[in-house]
Amino acid sequence: MDKTRLRIAIQKSGRLSKECQQLLKGCGVKLNLREQRLIAHAENMPIDLLLVRDDDIPGLVMDGVVDLGVVGENVLEETLMDRQAQGEAADYSVLKRLDFGGCRLSLAVADDFDYQGPQSLEGKRIATSYPWLLKRFMDEQGVKFKSVMLNGSVEVAPRAGVADAICDLVSTGATLEANGLVEADVIFRSKAVLIQSGNALPAGKQQIVDKLLPRIQGLQQARE
Ligand code: ATP
Ligand code: ZN
Repeated sequence: MDKTRLRIAIQKSGRLSKECQQLLKGCGVKLNLREQRLIAHAENMPIDLLLVRDDDIPGLVMDGVVDLGVVGENVLEETLMDRQAQGEAADYSVLKRLDFGGCRLSLAVADDFDYQGPQSLEGKRIATSYPWLLKRFMDEQGVKFKSVMLNGSVEVAPRAGVADAICDLVSTGATLEANGLVEADVIFRSKAVLIQSGNALPAGKQQIVDKLLPRIQGLQQARE
């Protein structure tokens, strides 16, 4: 890989991919995206895109493998707390909060659960993909609970008898409703963010970033 080209990690396929690609396109970056490719080269600027799972993006940025990344604050914050707990470096900065990828991380319970606040979950099992964000919230509330780590199908855990409640991402609430769950408390509000690795960029790359940022700013203002 050419080290002089700015490397940006974006989600390969999922809720952030389309808008990430549109954002770059809006900034004048011409992309030649082929299916099943890890790397895409911009045709008109010294930019390479790394197409990966969103969960890998904060680590790639924090390890300086890529220069920039676009990821949800939920994934960013969870990775950050995990790395801090492992004693791993987590050097990065947020360049811009973006106007897409909005969602909330919420506690949800079965619709017949008598929820009177986080205290109602004392000693209960809570299924989640975000154990650190959940723990931080419950610690603040002074509520002890048991974490059940699930990377998918979190919303079926209560019905399956695997957990008493869940802590999962919600946008419309339709998935919760379809699973007989109700949103009980919002514990974190998230949007997509553009982040940069902690290392100072070489002048050539910094110039590109300085060109991209005002374009992103302009695009977002036009959409407001
Ligand atoms: P990957 O295969 O890349 O790991 P994923 O299944 O983990 O994908 P997506 O469901 O595509 O991830 O969600 C990516 C991000 O989109 C989330 O981390 C979150 O920041 C944001 N998002 C916005 N709305 C929602 C929603 N309703 N549910 C889940 N994520 C949402
Ligand atoms: Zn993911």
